[in-house]
This record gives sequence, structure tokens and C-alpha cells, in this order.
Amino acid sequence: MSDRCNVCHGHVEQEMTTYTQWFEGRLIVVENVPAWVCTQCGETYYDPDVVERLQSVIWSAEPPSRVIETPVYDLATSD
Ligand SMILES: [Zn+2]
Repeated sequence: MSDRCNVCHGHVEQEMTTYTQWFEGRLIVVENVPAWVCTQCGETYYDPDVVERLQSVIWSAEPPSRVIETPVYDLATSD
């Protein structure tokens, strides 16, 4: 991983982030994911081994650490 953003060439710093992804109709949240975040545009990059661990966590049928309720809004149906 270079220390420059591919999008804006800004400086990237390693941070703990929260990763979210839709999987089989459910929103999966993974906390404490190390990522490289651009200080200029906010673009987020993950190291390959982190991506691998994310995928194995999301695809595993293991019970999550906790389950949260998530409010969902629909801009198409709100006035
Ligand atoms: Zn950037």
C-alpha cells in the first residue's frame, strides 16, 4: 500500500474503521477494521489480508458478536 490516495493523491493514514456490506439481503457490520483512509477525500483502502479476513467473517455462518437494529429510510417514499 502506498501512502498516497489513488483518487486525489492525498495522504492516507491507517485508521480503525467500521465496514458495512450487504450480504444475502442483510446489512453486515464489521467493527475495528484496519483501513487506510485518505485525509483529503475520505477514500478508504484495505490491505489484501484484511479483505480476506473480512470476506471469511462475512461468509462464515458464525454468530455475530451482537445484533443491532438499523433504521431504514426510503427517499422515494418520503415527502
Ligand atoms: Zn483522496
